[in-house]
Amino acid sequence: MVTIAVDGPSGSGKSSVSRAVAARLGLAYLDTGAMYRAATLWCVRSDVVLEDTEAVAAAVRAMPLDMGVDPSGPTVVLDGDDVAEPIRATEVSAVVSKVATNLEVRAELRRRQREIIETEASGGFSGGRGVVAEGRDITTVVAPDADARVLLTASEEARLRRRSLEVHGAADTAAVEATKDQVLRRDRDDATVSDFLVAADGVATVDSSDLDLDQTVEAVLAVVEHVAARGA
Ligand code: C5P
Repeated sequence: MVTIAVDGPSGSGKSSVSRAVAARLGLAYLDTGAMYRAATLWCVRSDVVLEDTEAVAAAVRAMPLDMGVDPSGPTVVLDGDDVAEPIRATEVSAVVSKVATNLEVRAELRRRQREIIETEASGGFSGGRGVVAEGRDITTVVAPDADARVLLTASEEARLRRRSLEVHGAADTAAVEATKDQVLRRDRDDATVSDFLVAADGVATVDSSDLDLDQTVEAVLAVVEHVAARGA
């Protein structure tokens, strides 16, 4: 079994790259950002005031969340409802850092993330082959002992352009400007509780600024092969 951990800032391509790597290697895919987004949606839908840290933590501990980890069609099921789309809405992106900087929420979600990683180590969707887990603090806190750890970076310009195309379908000046809050402000807020901008010891950096998706996937697979060869 193998655990591959990928982190990096918004717009670095973490999700698409991790999904593709998982599909290529027959592994499960865990999007931890989707869990923070689902937690935010859950609090909003339950009318919990996001500034009330204790109420938020209690709501998240009771949250009925089921993460589908098939990389060819990952799902996020909240109280029986597939919320893959609503969790990507601007309303959620704008406030997710409030929930993600709540330390009790982080403790609860990390516990759930480790549980999913352990399930995949012995069975689960991957039949014990393992998982590619992706998100801000995966390489340092959730899975510091992962077999391969990758920090995916990209220049600010490349990240803004990608997120702008994804959210607005365009990358002209106005669209890029409208994306700044989601990318730069959110990373700044998130960086107060997890360090995903510099590679920790033993974490390989892949810079995707000038690479397309396929090339980035190949670069990550090369890191995995390198680590496997070293361990063999
Ligand atoms: O990766 P994505 O943009 O979907 O993540 C959404 C938010 O979830 C991030 O802005 C961050 O606040 C939070 N997050 C986190 N730790 C993770 C993954 C995501 O704090 N491991």
